[in-house]
Amino acid sequence: MLDAPVRIEIHGSVALLLVDNPPVNATSLAVRRELLAAIETAEQDAAIDALVIACAGKTFIAGADVREMDKITADPILPQVVQRIEDCTKPVVAAIHGTALGGGCEIALACHGRLMAPESSMGLPEVKLGLIPGSGGTQRLPRLVGLVAALDIITSGRRVTAAEALSLGLVDRIAGTDLQADAIALARSLAGAPLRRLSQLPVPAADAASVEAAIAAIKKKARGQSAPVVAAEIIRLAAELPFAEALARERAAFLDLIASDQSKALRHAFAAERAVTRVPHLEGVVPHAVESVGIIGAGTMGAGIAVAFADAGFPVTVVETSAEAAEAGRGRVASLWDRQVKSGRITQDERDDKLARVRVVQDYAELSDADLIVEAAFEDMAVKHAIFAKLAAIAKPGAVLASNTSYLDINAIAAGHARPADTIGLHFFSPANVMRLVEVVEPQAASKEAVATGVAVAKKLGKIPVVCKVCDGFVGNRILASWRAIVELMLEDGAFPEEIDAALEAYGMAMGPFAVSDLAGLDIALARRKRLAATRDPAARYPSAIADRLCEAGRFGQKTGAGWYAYKDGKRAVDPFVTQLIEEVAAEKGIKRRPFPAETIQRYVRAAMVNEGARILEEGIVPRALDIDVVLMTGYGFPSWRGGPMFEADQIGLAAILSDMRDVFGFVGKGYEPAPLLEALAARGKGFADLPLEADA
Ligand code: NAD
Repeated sequence: MLDAPVRIEIHGSVALLLVDNPPVNATSLAVRRELLAAIETAEQDAAIDALVIACAGKTFIAGADVREMDKITADPILPQVVQRIEDCTKPVVAAIHGTALGGGCEIALACHGRLMAPESSMGLPEVKLGLIPGSGGTQRLPRLVGLVAALDIITSGRRVTAAEALSLGLVDRIAGTDLQADAIALARSLAGAPLRRLSQLPVPAADAASVEAAIAAIKKKARGQSAPVVAAEIIRLAAELPFAEALARERAAFLDLIASDQSKALRHAFAAERAVTRVPHLEGVVPHAVESVGIIGAGTMGAGIAVAFADAGFPVTVVETSAEAAEAGRGRVASLWDRQVKSGRITQDERDDKLARVRVVQDYAELSDADLIVEAAFEDMAVKHAIFAKLAAIAKPGAVLASNTSYLDINAIAAGHARPADTIGLHFFSPANVMRLVEVVEPQAASKEAVATGVAVAKKLGKIPVVCKVCDGFVGNRILASWRAIVELMLEDGAFPEEIDAALEAYGMAMGPFAVSDLAGLDIALARRKRLAATRDPAARYPSAIADRLCEAGRFGQKTGAGWYAYKDGKRAVDPFVTQLIEEVAAEKGIKRRPFPAETIQRYVRAAMVNEGARILEEGIVPRALDIDVVLMTGYGFPSWRGGPMFEADQIGLAAILSDMRDVFGFVGKGYEPAPLLEALAARGKGFADLPLEADA
């Protein structure tokens, strides 16, 4: 039977159990069942002395079958299989290649010997789905590597390379060129000797203070996320309770977490990140091949984008305006890799190889062979028009011309030159070589092939493309602008920056909005306000009087030593100047300030985000609520364990969001009306996930 998920191959006295369940050998029900049966068959076979568990294809077992997670799982469940492996009376060796993740790692931990291919890795990434290892991982790993290392590996969910695994004692050996042959030899050498069953080993003695310090650090870092905290508590039990008792606690905690809102949200985040790349209206569209890339401008963004492309192996040609600017740009590109060399992430040779892929030149004609050109020059419409006119003249037929503009109208950019069908937006986030999100902006005149090329290329960079239509700020910056206005108005009405930042950090955002503003510089938002001044609705309340006064005082954030906060030795502190300024502005406007409890701040910000998201859906800027969730989670520090604002709104219920939005409208007024789509869905008891709705009968 060729397509059996587990096959037994006999190599003399060793039975090699080969798991073959493409694409990643997930521990589906069929795999669990067959693996259990194969262990029993081999154990009973008198001609067999030892067993090897290995996998076909590109990887060892790389986790559970995510599709089975929402269903009731049938026997044998993974903990039974894992226990059966450990209980086997003959030695079992895991032969690991690719990645042994989650349940795959737990299977390896149940074996009596472990062997890894040099380029492989292991990990227990369950926390990333809001879970903990549920098949003994929290109890076996500390017995092997100690409590502190186990806490780190499990609560971070990170991957452990073969070299690190060997030094930690997580594996016995690194294989040579023939993993299976080496595993068979190892298994044979273990036959007849007492078996090393991890559940029977003591946890290595650890310094209590370092364990407590590690757990305290994990709690602090979790910022509201439960899985790492629960994991830490359960891991600690390894040293406190008999194995079986602690194992039962692990299982109970795992089952609690799998039913939790946080895990549902993280599973949504996981699925949504994959779903965004399947864009309904681009189905079947063939992208252009992209082999070489041009970039205009080697500033902050251009340099980061060049690094992102070179990291992915593309040759890159960057155009700058002068010899000096080119030299400075080259320096910026090199410095991004230099930092990685310093931190040990890449070697000097790798850095040199990458740098050799990037040329910074001054002549646009050098881009005539590029398949894709990304413009990252100044944020100025006249500059963009001039650049795109040149690109239209020199780019080869079929080349895609992309702008990295944050706010300018890409429809207008596209209409201003001879190649509108080839023109799209590729909105990278800073730092562009690190941030995973790319908004692929689709102007009206763009060909589907050009947009599909943007998606394909972003994927090649290891990034997450979200396709959207043109609007001010696209998805992310538009939603950001909507709730940034609310928090600034809350300042006038009674809150202080430190209260708002604390409330939103407690909500799970990576950094509060005023701290972010100080980091980015208050001049960025000021420039936007100036640009939009002419089109602002005079009847709508102006949110930025306080910010304007800070800019007038020369307080542009960290770079000027002061902004919303004072900065001393890089540490932020509440500044009485700001407190007083806020009270003054409120008094001038005749506002009677009132307290905003943290919970109110959180609800209002969430409502504003969701309301703007509803408008974005209403206008067809993106087709699905999950597109918005992915933008906020991958580009704006929105906590993944809440699943994105739209997912969270559905969980809470849109009636509650609508009521909060009415409160927001109550104190802000015009411009903050609840979105018609939000009202319509709430009235029908529906959520954003129900879109598109069947027409009303
Ligand atoms: P920057 O000022 O750091 O860099 C712009 C670079 O473009 C400069 O080096 C300049 O010499 C060069 N340049 C200007 N005109 C040129 C021309 N005609 N030909 C070739 N090079 C030219 O700006 P930045 O922050 O990198 O922003 C670039 C673009 O990216 C803007 O449109 C901006 O809105 C957008 N963006 C910025 C960020 C961010 O966080 N900085 C994030 C996303 C998008």
